[in-house]
This record gives sequence, C-alpha cells and structure tokens, in this order.
Amino acid sequence: MSAKPDYYDVLGVERTASKDDIRKAYRGLARRYHPDVSREPDAEAKFRQINEAYEVLRDPDKRGQYDRFGHAGPGAPFGAGFDDFGGIGDVFDAFFGGGRRARPGGVQPGADVRVRAELDFLDSIFGVETSVVYKRLEPCGTCGGNGAAPGTRPTTCPACRGAGQVQRAQRSIFGQFVNVTLCDTCGGRGQTIQDKCAACTSIGLERVDVERRIKIPAGIPADTELRLTGEGDHGPRGGAPGDLYIGVDVTPHPVLERKGDDIASTVVVNVAEAALGAEVEIETVDGPSTVKIAAGTQAGAAVRLRGKGAPRLRGSGRGDHLLHVHVATPSKLSRAQRRLLEELRETLPAGGDRDGRSFVDKVRAAFR
Ligand SMILES: [Zn+2]
Ligand SMILES: [Zn+2]
Repeated sequence: MSAKPDYYDVLGVERTASKDDIRKAYRGLARRYHPDVSREPDAEAKFRQINEAYEVLRDPDKRGQYDRFGHAGPGAPFGAGFDDFGGIGDVFDAFFGGGRRARPGGVQPGADVRVRAELDFLDSIFGVETSVVYKRLEPCGTCGGNGAAPGTRPTTCPACRGAGQVQRAQRSIFGQFVNVTLCDTCGGRGQTIQDKCAACTSIGLERVDVERRIKIPAGIPADTELRLTGEGDHGPRGGAPGDLYIGVDVTPHPVLERKGDDIASTVVVNVAEAALGAEVEIETVDGPSTVKIAAGTQAGAAVRLRGKGAPRLRGSGRGDHLLHVHVATPSKLSRAQRRLLEELRETLPAGGDRDGRSFVDKVRAAFR
C-alpha cells in the first residue's frame, strides 16, 4: 500500500550494490537535486527522497531490515515510513500500544532505581561523603548474562531466523498489507535457549547488593534527588543500565530551621532584656554564639547574623542566620516585681508608642 519508490531505484543502484557504489550514487544525485542549486521542478521532494534512501541503505542494519521487509514491512499498516523510526523495535510500540515489550533487534535498557538517604541536619549544611546500599539487577554471574547454562550458548531462533518477528500478508479494504507480529517461539528475542541457566532461569540477570559512595554537596536542600548515571538496573542481554536516584531526607534540627539559604531560630528574652538590651547565647550551624540584643528591641523583631546560614548550592558565599526575638511577658510575679511594674505602668505612655507598633507589624510581615 505504500506508494514509495524502491530505495535502490531512487539511488539508481542494483540491490547488490556495494557501500561505495551507494555513496557515489548518492553524492551525484544530491548535487543534482540540492534545492539551493537545482533547477528541477520537484527538486526538494526528490532531494528528500534521495536522503531518505541513503539514510537506510548506508546503514548495514537498516539496509538488512529494508531488504527483508521493504517499505511494506513493519510500519506500513500505520502509514509510517521506514524513515520514521530508529529501528524495527520502535514499531512494536506502535503495534502493541507502546508497552514495555522485548524489543526485537534491539536490547531493552534497565530500569532506574530509587533509594532514600537520611542526612544529619549539619551534614546537609556543610556536605558529607556517605554511601548508599541498595539492590540492583546485574548480569547473571553464572551464565554471564546470556541466560544459557554454563558451557552452552543461545541459538538463533529457527522460527524467525533471528529477526524476533514474523510477517504475514493480509488483505483489507485498503489493499494488501503485511502484518508483523512478535515471534511466538522466541518471544521476540531472536534467540532460543536449549539449556536454561539455573541461577537466573534464563533471564540473564540477578539481583545483587551494591554499595556506592556519594558526595553530598554543601547546602543541599531536603527532598533533593541526586542522580548517579548508569548505577540503576542492568537490562536483559546487555541492555544499558538505568540510573540511580537518591532522594535526600534531612533529619530536622531541634532548634535550627532551614529557610532556603538562611537558617532561622528563635530566642526568648524578658521585657526588661528587650527594653534594656541583653547578650544571649544561641545555637548556630557553626556552634554556640553570643549575640547582642539591642536596647528597645520589639517583640517579633529579627536579628540578622550575616554569613551564618547555609552555603549557597549555586554561587558562592553563605546565607544568613535570622534570629527571631520573642519577648516573654511575665505571668508569675513576686510582690516586689509587681510593685515595680505598677510603677512602670504609671510612667510609660498607655499602649506603647505607635511607631514602635508599626515597626513590629513591618517585621512580622517581612518574615511571614
Ligand atoms: Zn544466568
Ligand atoms: Zn523467533
């Protein structure tokens, strides 16, 4: 049903043409029909055809598939041209709804593996070298991955002669087309195994425990995923391994909280300390530190300790430590304390000063 001209005809070569003959024919035609220089009326279409034919015939694998199946082969019922897919395997995705099937002619890559790693809070700030232990599929150690018992080898499937698929001509209202199905005998592998490897039941893979060292970069946020390329499951029969994804969990710190590149914590001072100023001992990622609380500090104010935050994952330098000041109102008063506060109440303006309040509101809004 394909109206496509034969690739050999397009290039004007015999079916037995050598690689050299094909290249020479292609060069001559490409020069003649190049759309930039050609005066031929249908140069562009012709040029595309020539390139398409050359793409297939220059590649021994594609040429072999084309010789075996022609245009009417794998893609024909869906109108897909030979040039529309990278290999015969891709066609099976179209035939069988794109499921993960054994891909004849190609090998299936391995799956990605996901693990989680728990990190100490300070290790997430400054980085650490650690290791992850996980299971992954590797080529079977007994058979070397080919699935055949030691001392034997897989043999070419007699039913499909190694192609992994069988074709049947079918008639439909659109005309005749070739229906291609996965080979039943070998399940699409193109090979059959007489004596199965007992260790892997001929799958060619075994699940093994592996350990990988990983370097956690300084400043990594929680819930980051690190990827180790090629450290996932191997695919059957030499399929390239997938990747390993390491999800990083960070154990919360009792008093420090991460806010992007900044670290936040809270300090509690009493009304006298807030009014008169104080020196307080606080925890930072660098260890204990003494901080001055200025006289007249409002409740909800924050002290910014520059460069005491987390190292920036991208860029240089570190974030800040934001120390939020909580002013505790005394609730249990001795007789003497009560008298002093009552004296204060007589001398202070009622309700505090307005400017002070709006400042607090501003600070609160800034850190919400
Ligand atoms: Zn095995
Ligand atoms: Zn077969």
